[in-house]
Amino acid sequence: MRIDAILSGEGPVFSFEFFPPKTPEGERNLYAALGELQALEPSFVSVTYGAGGSTREKTIEIVKRIRDEYGLEAMAHFTCVGATVEQLRATLDEMRAAGIDNVLALRGDPPAGEEEWIKTDGGLEFSRELVQLISEGYPFAIGAACFPETHIHAESPEADLEHLLAKVEAGVDFLITQLFFDNASYFDFVARARSAGVKVPIIPGIMPITRVGQVERMAQMCGAAIPAELRRELHARGEDAEAVLDFGVAYATLQCAELLAAGAPGIHFYTLNRSPATRAILSALKLVRPWEKAVYAGSISSPSATRGEPSAAS
Ligand code: FAD
Repeated sequence: MRIDAILSGEGPVFSFEFFPPKTPEGERNLYAALGELQALEPSFVSVTYGAGGSTREKTIEIVKRIRDEYGLEAMAHFTCVGATVEQLRATLDEMRAAGIDNVLALRGDPPAGEEEWIKTDGGLEFSRELVQLISEGYPFAIGAACFPETHIHAESPEADLEHLLAKVEAGVDFLITQLFFDNASYFDFVARARSAGVKVPIIPGIMPITRVGQVERMAQMCGAAIPAELRRELHARGEDAEAVLDFGVAYATLQCAELLAAGAPGIHFYTLNRSPATRAILSALKLVRPWEKAVYAGSISSPSATRGEPSAAS
């Protein structure tokens, strides 16, 4: 089923992101996590596309397996890295033959150790071109990335937003944000995107913190700010892994509850192929149902409204 159709249904969508593992042990962990998270009935799951297209076969294989064996809707991430247009088309053909309905169209990052993005000869420069290639020739629902705190290589927040609008207009059905730890950055970004003319749902991406060093590395890589108070609390727990995990679950649960109460269309969880934190957060959210307590339900998800405007339903 197409994710844009899922998004037009009732209630928030919850999705889980996994990455293709490199080892047999990693593979066992992935399917164990999937088995545990399956009971939470996610609206869809997504599978990343490794740097340099290194997981092409694996991404498609895992997406297929999730659909066929777990009965869950699954989306394949796809990047422009290291491929000519002809090769990109060949992979898209493979996805279509595999019965995939949803693709997250991305530019991708430079290979490890390289700073600058260099387009492959005969390939594509920006994700907008990939979106165009897909929307002109394939029946997939198309998702794309967006960056509440601005993409690290953008010339400016304004330029980043202009490029985002052009990408959406090329055929994007929904957006998923980069991870962030301060909801104010999401609310501000959605308001700016709506006034710039971006009309599609913007699903917040949340990564539950499970390890201090790891989250600091990832936040730095993708330009997500860790608020000073949050960093202080994390460091106060030092090497106590269990205390960090408990705190990470509590923090992300409150973050998600606030987002959903403000009308966010759902939550995309960056699971890092582990289940306990995401499972605890989503189970609690499903019990408390903060979206039903929304004061301004629909304000964030509605294309025509910005935060703080009462929707017709309120
Ligand atoms: P683009 O939309 O092409 O933007 C890249 C940069 O170019 C931005 O700074 C933008 O402002 C600028 N730009 C865009 N158009 C123009 C233009 N016409 N002129 C000048 N500048 C322009 N990476 C992977 O390798 N595999 C994955 O599976 C993966 N999954 C992801 C999932 C999510 C939800 C997110 C948020 C990111 C993911 N990434 C993944 C990372 C992503 O590939 C990188 O963040 C990449 O650097 C940017 O991708 P993009 O699709 O946003 O690029």
